[in-house]
Amino acid sequence: MTTSVPADSAPRACDLLVRADAIITQDDDRRVLTGAAVAIGDDLVLEVGDYADLDARYDAAQRLDMSGKMLLPGLVNGHTHLPMTLLRGFADDLPLMEWLEGHIWPVEAQLDEDLLGIGARLGCAELIRTGCTAFLNGYFHEYVTGDAASNCGLRAVLGEGFFAFPSPFFPTAEACWETIRTLEARFRDDPLVRTAVTPHAAFTVPPEDLAASFELAEALDIPWQTHLAESPAETAVCLGKYGMRPVEILRKEGLLSPRVTLHHCVDVTDGEILQLAASGTNVVHNPASNLKLCSGMSPVQKMLDAGVNVGLGTDGASSNNQLNMFRDMGLAALIGKVRHEDASAVNAGTALDMATRHSARCLGWPELGRIEAGFPADMIALDLSSPNLMPVFNHVSHAVYAATGMEVCMTMVAGEVLYLYGEFRTLDVSGLRKEALRCSKWVRSVSGK
Ligand SMILES: [Zn+2]
Repeated sequence: MTTSVPADSAPRACDLLVRADAIITQDDDRRVLTGAAVAIGDDLVLEVGDYADLDARYDAAQRLDMSGKMLLPGLVNGHTHLPMTLLRGFADDLPLMEWLEGHIWPVEAQLDEDLLGIGARLGCAELIRTGCTAFLNGYFHEYVTGDAASNCGLRAVLGEGFFAFPSPFFPTAEACWETIRTLEARFRDDPLVRTAVTPHAAFTVPPEDLAASFELAEALDIPWQTHLAESPAETAVCLGKYGMRPVEILRKEGLLSPRVTLHHCVDVTDGEILQLAASGTNVVHNPASNLKLCSGMSPVQKMLDAGVNVGLGTDGASSNNQLNMFRDMGLAALIGKVRHEDASAVNAGTALDMATRHSARCLGWPELGRIEAGFPADMIALDLSSPNLMPVFNHVSHAVYAATGMEVCMTMVAGEVLYLYGEFRTLDVSGLRKEALRCSKWVRSVSGK
C-alpha cells in the first residue's frame, strides 16, 4: 500500500513506536492485526495500525522493533495475595479449610513489613516475567505491596484484608476502617496504585460488618471485593452460622452491585447466577487454585451466558503455586469444557477476554486490557520463534493454549518497558534470590517444619 506522507502534513511526534508481526488488540471488534505497529505518547496508545503507515506518519523519539513477536494487552490478574510468594510450596496437597487454619494463618500472623516487602517484590518479578501488568490484591500491610508495585512500575489495586475475629493486624473488622482510609489517601495521587475494601469472606466476616465495610467503599468510591462461595465446605459453614448460602448473605445485605468483585464463585446455583448477572456483580475465576485445593470447578460458561462479567486470577502463590496468568488462562479454557461437558465452552477468545478486559472491570479499571488508541499503553510481547508457537494459524489460540508465559519477552506498563529480553529494568532479581533464602529460613523457624 502507499505510505507516502502528504506534503502538507508533518509527521506526528510520539515517544515510542513498537513494531510487531501481529497485535492482538482486544478492542471492541477483537481485531488481530499483522505487520502492525503501536504509536505511544506519554502513557497512552496514540494509534494502532499498519506498520508502514504508522512509520510514515509518526516521528518517534524511540523505536522498538519486535519483528517475530506478537503483542497483546498486558494480562490483568483479578485475584491474588502477592506476598504469599513467601509461602509457595510450604503447605501443599491439602483441602481449603485445613490448609488455611492449620498451616497458612499461623505463619501469616507473624509476618512483618520487611518480609511482606520481599514477598511483594518477588511477586512483582513473577508478574512482570509472565506478562501481567495489573493485579487486584488482598493481604495485610498493603502499603508495602503498593510501594513494591509502584516502584517497579506495575498497576495494583490494594485490599487491606480483615476478619471479624481478632487478627494480629486488627482486633475487630471496624478497626481496619482507618487503615483503609489511610491507604486510599496514601495512593490517591499515584497513577499506578488504587485501593479496594476487602473483607476476607462471608464465613469469616459477619453480615453486619460486610454491610458496614460496603458503606465505606461507597463513601470512598472504590471497589469492594471478597472471597465468596469458594467451596461446598464454605457454603456449609455459612448455612450453619446464618442459615443462608454465601450469595444469599450478600443479596440480603444489598451487597450485589457493579462495585463488587467476588473471588471464586465455585459453589453457586443457577438462581444465584441470575442474581449476580442482574446486579452487575463481577466474579473472578481462579481455576488453578480451585483445582489444587479441590474446591470444585466454577460454572464459568453458565455465568458468562447469563451476562456475568467473569475475570481471571491466579489467587496466591501458595494455592496455585504460580502467579502466571498464562497457565490460568489455559486452565480456564480446559476445565470450562469439562465442567460444562462441551468442547466449545470457554473458548480461546473467551479465556483471553477473561484475562484482559473482564479482569480489568473486576479491578474497577475498565480502560485496561486492550491495545487501542486513547487507552493506557500496557502491553506484552510473545516470541513467536519459540518452538511451541510455530507455525501460527490463530494468534489468540496460541496465546491461550500453546504459550506457557515463558515466551514473554517484553512487558510494558504506561509506555514504560519493565522487562525486555531477560532484563528486569525496575527490579534487582539477583538480590531477591538472597532475600528469598532468608525468608525460607524464617518460615521454617516459625512453623517448626
Ligand atoms: Zn484468595
